[in-house]
Amino acid sequence: MSTKKIPQRQCIGCGEMKNKKEMLRVLKTTDEQIIIDATGRKNGRGAYICPSMDCYKKAVKNKGLERSLKMAIPKEVYEALEKEMDSIGEQ
Ligand SMILES: [Zn+2]
Repeated sequence: MSTKKIPQRQCIGCGEMKNKKEMLRVLKTTDEQIIIDATGRKNGRGAYICPSMDCYKKAVKNKGLERSLKMAIPKEVYEALEKEMDSIGEQ
């Protein structure tokens, strides 16, 4: 049995620790832009969320993104994130 350690991150919605690879990364880039980083390879400060509408709603409610990225989150970012959750849910 392999005991390779899988990096875990805390979801900004439900607060659970999960495998980083299963999560969606929201990134604050070095020039203060907020993007949804599907590849997880860009530089910047990241927040992680489960790819589910439930966690998205929780994150909106508890302002998890604001707290995690320490800045105001533009409405467009939430809209993009909601769209992302929607398309994941349909797969
Ligand atoms: Zn979650």
